[in-house]
Amino acid sequence: MRVSLDRKVCEGHSVCVGLVPELFDVSDDDDRVMLVAGDEVPAGLETRVLSAVARCPKQVLSVAD
Ligand code: SF4
Repeated sequence: MRVSLDRKVCEGHSVCVGLVPELFDVSDDDDRVMLVAGDEVPAGLETRVLSAVARCPKQVLSVAD
């Protein structure tokens, strides 16, 4: 599973960071989400990543196989 994001739409609410800090952080430069470990979702994190996709208030995140 890979995760992608649309930084232009992100408002930096950090819902994703709270759910999966292993993958997401908010940049100090522009207060928008960034991937901290690449776009491949490590085994065991899939459920939390899917939760972040569903809960992002701006629908910034998406996943693909
Ligand atoms: S939850 Fe959505 S809007 Fe908030 S920081 Fe993450 S990607 Fe951006």
